[in-house]
Amino acid sequence: MGYMIRIGRLIDGLSDVVLQDYLVAVEDGRFAWMGPAGEGNPGEYGDWPVLDAREYTMMPGLIDGHVHLCNDSVPDRAAVMLSDVPGAATLRALRNAERTLEMGFTTVRDCAGIGVLSLRDAGGRGEFAIPRIQSAGYGICNTGGHMDRDRFFNARFLDNRGVADSPDEVRRVTRELLKLGVDFIKVNATRGFGGKIRGHQEMTTEEMSAATEVAHRVGKRVASHAMGTDGIRASLDARIDSIEHGFWLTPDLADQMAEQGSYLLPTAATLYRNVTRGFYRNGMTDEELARMHDLAASAREAMFQSMEYAIDSGVKIAVGSDMGGGPFLHHGENATEMEQLVEGGLSAMAALKAGTSVVADLMDRGDDLGRVAPGYLADFLLTSKDPTEDISILSEPGNIAGVFLEGRLAKRGRNLCRGPWNPEHV
Ligand SMILES: [Zn+2]
Repeated sequence: MGYMIRIGRLIDGLSDVVLQDYLVAVEDGRFAWMGPAGEGNPGEYGDWPVLDAREYTMMPGLIDGHVHLCNDSVPDRAAVMLSDVPGAATLRALRNAERTLEMGFTTVRDCAGIGVLSLRDAGGRGEFAIPRIQSAGYGICNTGGHMDRDRFFNARFLDNRGVADSPDEVRRVTRELLKLGVDFIKVNATRGFGGKIRGHQEMTTEEMSAATEVAHRVGKRVASHAMGTDGIRASLDARIDSIEHGFWLTPDLADQMAEQGSYLLPTAATLYRNVTRGFYRNGMTDEELARMHDLAASAREAMFQSMEYAIDSGVKIAVGSDMGGGPFLHHGENATEMEQLVEGGLSAMAALKAGTSVVADLMDRGDDLGRVAPGYLADFLLTSKDPTEDISILSEPGNIAGVFLEGRLAKRGRNLCRGPWNPEHV
């Protein structure tokens, strides 16, 4: 036997309307049935215990398509990583994953961080209450490239694994990652905006094509860190599946993205924090800090412009906060990205879809994640306010009333489940 929820407002992740006063049945970790409350007898579900959630809004568990769980947003990140003892990165990732779940994100896609693989598997076995994870393992880049530098995530900290300088080397590294059991491949087409302002291209079309050729053959997708027109074009020519960041997109490239079905993850949250809170000093002079601020402001302008082109061309935009990738942005603050997507022109409902059904599709899980619908995994959250009226309510912990993973209560907020229904039975 499962249980029923009587919900005041239901956002299903796909439709544009907020459904009012619904009954949802959950059984064996999946949604079994749903229908308007009071419209006839729900048949076999009629005897199931009912959670009275009429004062809440229900939505699919949120999904963040771009995080780095192994990384904390701290000034001395490089020092932390260089002094890591074995397992330290995985423990950081565990703590960060717990914080992420508490804010209603039940699935994340980790875009580089080797310590995440074991955590993904432990979470999958139910050993920890954490979001389900897709992991890229380490990111692939050229020698001295985006992820082979002091402040960055993996190559330098892992005996230069992930570094590849020819199509053949990329093939070998991609195969090595697939052997480790990664869920998708991450390539670094360009540098960040801290270098030349338009993020100059690093990996070649041929190198990235080698990654897509090997990955696509076994049904895995390829994400490309790409900001700057040349790197985005090279990534698209290499048939990558998603453009991460995508600043300095052009109308032509947006058309190409739409035509190829590539997704855009604007990672707008990081830039928002850059312009509102700045950067960690890390030995920079006042002049250097001011220059970084100007670069971030210009990249943010380019990002909003890219979003406009993408929306005009019909490119699918997905939520990816880049949590762990930038200063002053901490795991658990993932919903900042949705606020920024609304700032960039999406409706609140479109931003919610970008963080549920759209990003589930991007992760090749569109048939069982990201929606409240019969047959889908029962990952969902209950909020005390309606995010379609104000998306920023998702950033306030007090509004997250309950987070459920495969039908089980994983985080309980205040006042949830008053009355006879006992969440301990779920
Ligand atoms: Zn990132």
